[in-house]
Amino acid sequence: IAEAFEVQKHFGQLEVLKGISLTVKRGEVTCILGPSGSGKSTFLRCINQLETLDGGYIMVEGQPIGVKIKNGNLHKQNEKEIAKSRENIGMVFQSFNLFPHMTVLENICEAPLRVKRESRKVVLDRANELLARVGLSEKADVYPVALSGGQQQRVAIARALAMEPKLMLFDEPTSALDPELVGEVLDVMRDLAKAGMTMIVVTHEIGFAREVGDNLVFMDGGYVLEQGAPREVLSNPQHERTQQFLAKVL
Ligand code: ATP
Ligand code: MG
Repeated sequence: IAEAFEVQKHFGQLEVLKGISLTVKRGEVTCILGPSGSGKSTFLRCINQLETLDGGYIMVEGQPIGVKIKNGNLHKQNEKEIAKSRENIGMVFQSFNLFPHMTVLENICEAPLRVKRESRKVVLDRANELLARVGLSEKADVYPVALSGGQQQRVAIARALAMEPKLMLFDEPTSALDPELVGEVLDVMRDLAKAGMTMIVVTHEIGFAREVGDNLVFMDGGYVLEQGAPREVLSNPQHERTQQFLAKVL
């Protein structure tokens, strides 16, 4: 469903991604692990076109992102085309980023109504279904400020799902949460994985990666140092940097 090939990204002189290649199969959960500054967020942002690539390419659902092929030549996508390919991709951030002036239900309905221009009835039905799925049906009409961090993050997940994405990106979705709220968010993500969603999850939750992940990727210094079945990588890391990192977090 998604493929990154030799993806490069730099900010001025700073080379953040030096050639990231990764294949994500439909229905699989890919967990990305790595030290701070290794480029994990930047890589997710590249997939979602919040950054433009400086080299390599990323394909999602068979479409190259950021570029299009026209008359045999490569062209940059325009705004409208970028928005269109982004519809396939949902993203959840560390800070929940809900719209503070909208109720929970309005937060979830906003993008499908405004971007996809779907009918009110369809959008509302789906929003209510999603709220039930994340266990927050009774919170439909409250504002984000009245919710705990864990609840806000579950709304943020429901909001991303409302666009019916084919791929979900999570950037440290639980690292801003109080420890006792982490579990409820991971439970929602686990259910989503079970339901067959394709997910890329940047996380330091090793237990989640081991249990739910199909593939574990260790990034360091702008490269993928190693990847494989989570149990393999966690119990028998090949690379010294991975061993050092795991020794710290395990
Ligand atoms: P963390 O675990 O702390 O979230 P990360 O692996 O997600 O780290 P990135 O946020 O991708 O790391 O950042 C990688 C490097 O790129 C860092 O050195 C960061 O300072 C730099 N960087 C990220 N975004 C920008 C930007 N917009 N302009 C300049 N430098 C940036
Ligand atoms: Mg990050």
